[in-house]
Amino acid sequence: SIKIGVLGLQGAIREHVWALESTGAEVAIVKKIEHLEGLDGLVIPGGESTTMRRLLDQYGLFEPIKAFAQQHPVFGTCAGLILMAQQIEGQKGPHLALMDINVRRNAFGRQVASFEAELVIEGVADDFMGVFIRAPYILNVGQDVQVLSVYEDKIVAARQGHFLTCAFHPELTNDYRFHHYFYDMVRAYKE
Ligand code: GLN
Repeated sequence: SIKIGVLGLQGAIREHVWALESTGAEVAIVKKIEHLEGLDGLVIPGGESTTMRRLLDQYGLFEPIKAFAQQHPVFGTCAGLILMAQQIEGQKGPHLALMDINVRRNAFGRQVASFEAELVIEGVADDFMGVFIRAPYILNVGQDVQVLSVYEDKIVAARQGHFLTCAFHPELTNDYRFHHYFYDMVRAYKE
């Protein structure tokens, strides 16, 4: 069977667990290094990227997750996207630096800090309700990155090999097609 972890330090954790359980995967919450053992993939949830980074360092999980990601699929949502980016606009350095993407934090401005929008996501759905909460977006991507969704000229979902990411919260509706897409990635990667 397929076992997927959800980084459980901060943010929208339970909802990701429920979404992943709907795919038939076994799901584990990751708070310690040993929780990574036996996992086939990992979700990095939304929340606050700077807080999550601080907790990753504090719990000694930063390097182990970087190493895990070299050999397993990872899906980062919202703050998870920021953690996965190789470049964060206006910031000295990146965090996990897994994907060749350049991101802008809190990118949709104050008036529309949080909103919902129907999205076309390549390979996933053409009517996916994206929940954006103080969301980032991707300013530009490297040539190995496949753009999966664009909303008002802004890149809001992308894939690079075994890495998947989106700017919104796919766990906050009952539509779990994006989690199913990740489950399929994890299963294919394992085989
Ligand atoms: N604004 C948050 C950050 O910069 C991300 C928001 C979210 O994950 N919903 O980390």
